[in-house]
Amino acid sequence: MAVLVTGATGFIAQYVVDYLLKEKYQIIGTVRSQEKAEKLHRQFGNDPRLSFEIVEDISSLNAFDQLFEKRANEIQIVLHTASPVHFDTKEYEKDLLIPALHGTQGILNSIKKYGAHTVERVVITSSFAAILDVSRFSDGKAVYTEKDWNPATWEGCQTDGMNAYCASKKFAEEYAWKFLEENKDLVKFKLSTVNPTFVFGPQKFEEDVKGHLNTSNEIINALLHSQPGSTKLEPDYHAEYVDVRDVAKAHLVAFQKEETAGQRLGLNNGPFSSQAVVDILNSKFPQLKGKIAVGPHPGQPDPTPGCSFDNSHSKKILGFPFISLEQAVYDTVAQILKKEGKM
Ligand code: NDP
Repeated sequence: MAVLVTGATGFIAQYVVDYLLKEKYQIIGTVRSQEKAEKLHRQFGNDPRLSFEIVEDISSLNAFDQLFEKRANEIQIVLHTASPVHFDTKEYEKDLLIPALHGTQGILNSIKKYGAHTVERVVITSSFAAILDVSRFSDGKAVYTEKDWNPATWEGCQTDGMNAYCASKKFAEEYAWKFLEENKDLVKFKLSTVNPTFVFGPQKFEEDVKGHLNTSNEIINALLHSQPGSTKLEPDYHAEYVDVRDVAKAHLVAFQKEETAGQRLGLNNGPFSSQAVVDILNSKFPQLKGKIAVGPHPGQPDPTPGCSFDNSHSKKILGFPFISLEQAVYDTVAQILKKEGKM
């Protein structure tokens, strides 16, 4: 029996595939083109336990039908990670809200149609974005838990990319829980979600380190390429983080443990700020000395922390220690510097 991983080319999904292969699972990955399938298969050493199906655009409600019609009897576990992750659009519905929501609608309805008796566990990659109130993003007094929900509305969220992205995650996740409630007698699967904060960490494959990285790592990449002498950091984040390797591990625990069924698994290992990131860069990489910004408060605790996520409940269920900010930033930057020939 196989694990279906949607959006297998993604930053997080590549680690999920890697960890599944290490645990000897058969995997079906969805990718958007044959070319992407071939590249990823090569990167995983053409492992015969990994096969691919093309799903070009999850905005289409029946995007997964063909795949399930063909292979539903093989699929026992579904990890739905595919969703657009960027903030740089003004076409909020087309580029963010619809693909996120339709992707989740589409896959759950394909399971109901073709895999109602074979799919046992479904894990949706949601986000802390589905939990927080974006208007309190910078409010250090706001503390959220796995019980909270982003209060965004479909119309109200269409003010900027960040708001719309966060809402896209809320609408997709909300749909999943409601679907299960309404269809609990018609499908067999148990549902869990994973809800990470900003995900940092090296790319699975160094060849994928480009000038511009995936949205969350681009924060670190931009700070690594900041100008010396500037006191203001750009971007200037005060938020929370988790390492990609812990996020991948959690996707496996999310379907392997009985206690994770029915849970929203909060993935967070505490605060980070742009200042904390440049502090790590300046102290751990001597070759960067004098070449990047030092920030306004070097070595000081963040004077204006943003909202936080108390995920102690999930950490207890998951039962593994999380990677530190220092390690996550170090590994991300060491990989970039190596690619740039500076290490
Ligand atoms: P990536 O952008 O690296 O991966 C996104 C994946 O989704 C890619 O495989 C992409 O395909 C696919 N995808 C996007 N839009 C479509 C579409 N319309 N049709 C088909 N496939 C699509 O992002 P991450 O790995 O960072 O994110 C993965 C998941 O984790 C997402 O659900 C995201 O919301 C969630 N998440 C991420 C966080 C982060 O900080 N990175 C934090 C919290 C949650 P392709 O590569 O071909 O474009």
